[in-house]
Amino acid sequence: MGLLDESALDRHERIEAVLNATNDGLLVLSPEDEVTLVNPAALQMLAMAEDELMHRTVKVEDLLGLDRVESASSESCKDIMSCEMSECPAFDSADLRCWLINGTLCDKDGSAKTFAEKRDKCADCPTHEKLAGPFDPLVGKEHDLKLDNGESHLVLKVRVTPIADSSGSYIGRVVALRDITSEDEIAQMKNEFVSTVSHELRTPLTSIKGYVDLILDGDAGDINEIQREFLAIVKENSDRLVELINDMLDISRIESGRIHLKVDPQHVDEIIDGAVDTFRAVLTQSSRTMQVDVPDDLPVVIADRDRVRQVLINLLSNAIKYSPAGGDVKLIARREGDLVRISVIDQGLGISAEDQSMLFTKFYRVDSALTREIGGTGLGLSICKSIIELLGGEIGVDSVAGEGSTFWFTLPVAPEDAVRMPEIAGPEGRTGTVLVVDSDIEIAALIETYLRRRGFDVLQAHSADDAYSLAIAAKPDVITLDVILEDGDGFDLLHRLKEHESTADIPVVVLSIVCDEGRSCRFGAANYLEKPIDQKKLLDVVGSLVGSGDSPLVLVVDDDRSVVSLLTETLRRRGFSVAQAFDGTEAIAALDEHRPDLILLDLRMPRMNGYEVIKRVKTSEEWGDIPIVVMTAYPIDHAHVDILAQTEGQISKPLSPGDIAGQVEALLAGVPVKTEA
Ligand code: ADP
Repeated sequence: MGLLDESALDRHERIEAVLNATNDGLLVLSPEDEVTLVNPAALQMLAMAEDELMHRTVKVEDLLGLDRVESASSESCKDIMSCEMSECPAFDSADLRCWLINGTLCDKDGSAKTFAEKRDKCADCPTHEKLAGPFDPLVGKEHDLKLDNGESHLVLKVRVTPIADSSGSYIGRVVALRDITSEDEIAQMKNEFVSTVSHELRTPLTSIKGYVDLILDGDAGDINEIQREFLAIVKENSDRLVELINDMLDISRIESGRIHLKVDPQHVDEIIDGAVDTFRAVLTQSSRTMQVDVPDDLPVVIADRDRVRQVLINLLSNAIKYSPAGGDVKLIARREGDLVRISVIDQGLGISAEDQSMLFTKFYRVDSALTREIGGTGLGLSICKSIIELLGGEIGVDSVAGEGSTFWFTLPVAPEDAVRMPEIAGPEGRTGTVLVVDSDIEIAALIETYLRRRGFDVLQAHSADDAYSLAIAAKPDVITLDVILEDGDGFDLLHRLKEHESTADIPVVVLSIVCDEGRSCRFGAANYLEKPIDQKKLLDVVGSLVGSGDSPLVLVVDDDRSVVSLLTETLRRRGFSVAQAFDGTEAIAALDEHRPDLILLDLRMPRMNGYEVIKRVKTSEEWGDIPIVVMTAYPIDHAHVDILAQTEGQISKPLSPGDIAGQVEALLAGVPVKTEA
């Protein structure tokens, strides 16, 4: 007779034997959260004795060492969330509390009779969705949880499931705990493996891509048409490989939680302009247009500029790629309450409802002859989703198969007092000496070639010690630095350079295959670029840093972006460094950070107008002597004449950039302006 023979053991003993033998931890809670059953595996995972748990009232969150999800409330669910769900199965006029919130069932006589019916209805309820914590019985999703019980470190998968009796009444919930510590370790090893392999692939790719570009650009002499055609194929495929590796690295960073976001107040139109710019050539070639509709008064958002740009580029490239018959692409940005919604609208293939639900998962591609022909990895949208959610927004799609798609995402509006820090762009066309620090000799030579073509003098160092002594001896205008060096960590070198009196002010651009923007900025890097190096980006960044420290700085303040960029270009060409601010608050923040030699100021601006800026500057001990030139399109209002009298000059719009630059030069006659001969 076997041990589990029905005749030998009663039903209760059999169940207990099974529970004792199972490796998963199990806890059963009554509707009032009293523990009515716990098995040995659960006690071991939680490092607790049976009498510490049995018949005690516990909250699952407390038990698992989590912050309690604030859910219990005696308010009516309708009041809490202005619930609009008609015929709510949870609503009962005799007990106004939402059972989803309290874990108790009301609506005994309502339309939904059984627990399952209520659960299904309530699972769709927006009120419930907003209030449901990770251990809400209805959510039924699994959650990973890291537990540190003194000496042991455990990763558990937790699932809470409601229990209903045969009549459909709710009688409690079962909490299942599965030990996934070793799976978690394997997942981490996998992420590290992907990350290492991707890095290792990037180094040779940097050389392949860079040198092919140089041959195509004619740096190795003339090439014939066939050679050009073949090299273009190599270039296209190495670009694809770079994209794929970047996507894989992004996924592994996201999954291991090592993604670094640089979150600041940002102007959406600035990010949109940058993203749209990258498609200019493609649009011209395919004779399509991209319409951008962004209102002037769009608020500043809180976001990571480069990551949002990456999302936009992905959505725009999909909109073009999946509209094989052509058609225009529209990009619209609008404020919606505390969010800004950005939509990318195409007239392409469209996506069925079934595919839409899977679209944002890794590797998912719509299975059709056309998408197969178009090619892709199915990683882009899942990366976009992770980025947008990490930034506190949402992403989604509205589409009908065959009728085009609208991909949209939202970003949180920045708080009123959040201010964007302006970056400084040095004078244009200035050249100087750049110290290139890279332990890979071929890559150092590649960077040198890029820089020399633009007229820079270049020094190379391949080790941290050489770089340090060369930087002190030669005092270059800019240093490019790879953080992986044979004789040490590039971040240590960066730190040493920033500590040394004679090198502290030299701007350093970190160029690396290791994405660690946050760390670079903390250690005082002026900018950060990832390998493989984009030649144009590198030259733009180095170009704008040369001379930024030693030429007169003009702060240009105007909410009209076209005015700011026109003036910036003109002034940079005349040998000035420029800091840009798009309203008065940003101007004041910029003054705090970098004292300018002159301010060019618009009067009518959102948040803080120009008059207020003049008052603050002119009454300040520190800034009172900074000359201000006012630019205005409107007749001066008499009430403000006194304020304007404190400024050094006034210019009426429309502006002549040449005249303004002339006036700036005259006012700064005493300040040396270094221009290239
Ligand atoms: P990839 O384009 O590399 O396949 P994505 O993650 O960017 O990867 O997109 C996933 C899938 O979603 C695509 O394979 C395509 O089937 C579908 N898709 C994305 N954008 C669009 C669009 N604008 N129109 C139609 N289908 C799209």
